[in-house]
This record gives sequence, structure tokens and C-alpha cells, in this order.
Amino acid sequence: MNLDHMYQEVILDHYKHPEHKGLSAQKDVQVHHINPSCGDEITLNLSVSDGLVKEVSWDGIGCSISMASASMMSGLLTGKKSSEASLILEAFMELMQSKGTLQGDENLLEDAVAFAGVSKFPARIKCALLGWMAYKDAAFQIQGK
Ligand code: ZN
Repeated sequence: MNLDHMYQEVILDHYKHPEHKGLSAQKDVQVHHINPSCGDEITLNLSVSDGLVKEVSWDGIGCSISMASASMMSGLLTGKKSSEASLILEAFMELMQSKGTLQGDENLLEDAVAFAGVSKFPARIKCALLGWMAYKDAAFQIQGK
């Protein structure tokens, strides 16, 4: 099995069995983000306490890339220190801006390295980033509170 095929399987698996999908009642901030070029939409609830990301939950509709990426993001960031979550977010954004030249740091990004290939397709980058941008927005709003 080649790497691209394995990555497609990982993405499809998250699409079919998304993590943290369904909005939790526990939230400090709620944001809604859309990706008009594809029609993807996500609502994200974030709760943070004592410098920890207590929970990222989300709901949405959209293509397999946007939904799988939101699933991985919520699974990766829930339970992390806010500072760690920021590092993971930055690493993912860097990967998406790499135009296929980076493979991604598996220690930080875990399954999300599966999106490395997506960075070669400008039209799909926004799909992969949708959930992460929603988290970034929510975390920024919480900091301001
Ligand atoms: Zn999409």
C-alpha cells in the first residue's frame, strides 16, 4: 500500500467516524465558520480552563476533507495545554502552506500528517484548514475574555 493510499484511508475513516462531533453543552465560546468555495460549514464549541483545552466539540456539513480535518483537529487538541495546541495549530498551518514540500511532524500532528498531500491542491487547502481556523478564532476570543 503506498503512502497516498494509506493517507486517503485515514481521512475517509475520520470522515465516516468523526471524533468530538456533536456540540457539547460545555463551552466558553462558540464560533461558526464557512468555506464558501466548497460549501463547507462548521460550528465549534471550545472550553478552556487553567491553561488546558478542556474540550473542542463541533458539528458541520461539508466535504470529506473538511469534516475529517475537523475530526482530527478536535481529537488532537482536546486535553492539550493551550500552548501545545497553538504549536500543533502552527505546525498544521505550515504543512498546509508547504505546497507538498513538507511531510509534517508526526510527533505533533499524528494522523493529521495525512493532509500533507492536500497542500498541493490550492482549492482544497481551505477545506482542510476550516476546522483549525475555527479553533484559532475561538481560542483568540477566549484570550480576550
Ligand atoms: Zn471542502
